[in-house]
This record gives sequence, structure tokens and C-alpha cells, in this order.
Amino acid sequence: MMATGQVLKPGDHIYSKCFGGLYDHHGIYMGKAKVKNPRTGKEEQIENAVIHFLGLDKNGKAKTYRPQCPKCFHESHELGVVLTCLDCFYDGNTIYRYEYEVSLLSFTFKSSGSCSTFTSSEPDVVIKRAYSFLHKNNFGEYSLFFNNCEHFATKCKTGTALCNQILFGTGVPGAIAYNVARGFTKGLFWS
Ligand SMILES: [Zn+2]
Repeated sequence: MMATGQVLKPGDHIYSKCFGGLYDHHGIYMGKAKVKNPRTGKEEQIENAVIHFLGLDKNGKAKTYRPQCPKCFHESHELGVVLTCLDCFYDGNTIYRYEYEVSLLSFTFKSSGSCSTFTSSEPDVVIKRAYSFLHKNNFGEYSLFFNNCEHFATKCKTGTALCNQILFGTGVPGAIAYNVARGFTKGLFWS
């Protein structure tokens, strides 16, 4: 798999569209990582690993159902902070990198007064935080509005849980405002 745009680096905050583009799913790109093969009990190395926070839909069910992944052994009923391959992270064609120095987003955050910092930590710190949440699985209960996949990824990146999707409001108007702002981020196109 090759990126025709920028190449992902471990510690990058990535996201991809889901629910028809209304919401994004966020995670931390880890590069190479080890997963346990449940059949052999042995650890295997996978490429393009992602740590992300999976929640339930409003009916209390896992968002997608699929058979166990042959690459990373993820099962769709496993929720909370998970480490999976990139294929399990997104269904679409495009992965975007969440930029931490986008002026419009920074400005929006400043004027809202609800977020104070918007600076990414060094990649090794980000990776350490993501693994720490994964091993303890202690990011708390998933909540679409108060504790979601974006909170998780920004917490790993900055040490503070930011609330971009919710800041722009919920529903279609918020999603549009949010996606307009996102137009300023750079896309990563995978072939
Ligand atoms: Zn997988």
C-alpha cells in the first residue's frame, strides 16, 4: 500500500469518513505493531497498525459486523481502545491526517474559548500515550458527545481531549461546518 500524497508516520492522528460523511472516525497511526494470534497464542508483527477508540451506536450495538480480521485478528464486537490494522480502521478510500497547525481550526478553538492548546506532542510521546490507553483500556465509557474517538486521538496527541466535531454542533449543520473546516486539512490518498 502506497500513499500518493504524504506518507503516514507513527504518531500521526488520522481520520476517515464514516456514516455517510457525517462523522469521522479517528485514531493514532502506529506503523508496525505486535498483535497476538489467538490460534497460536504467539505475537505477530503487522504493518500499518492503528490504535483507536471504538464505541457503540445509539442502539448499543457495535457499529459494524464482520468476521475476525485475518491480519490483525480484530473482532467487530471488541470495543473500547483497540489496536487494529488500517483495513479495520476505515471502510472508505481516503485516510486524512489531522493537522495540528491549521489556522482556521486554531482560530475557531480560540474564539470558542473551550480549548486552550492545540499543539501536538512529539511522536514518541503520542505513541506512548496511545499504548498506555490500549494496555489499561481505561479511556472510560464511549459517549458520542462527551467521550468519542476524536477525544481519544486528540488526548493522545496533545494530552488534552479536544472536541472538534461537537464544537461545531451536532447534526447536519454542525457536520457541514466541521467538514468545511476540515477542507483545510491535507488528504492522504491511498491506492
Ligand atoms: Zn484488521
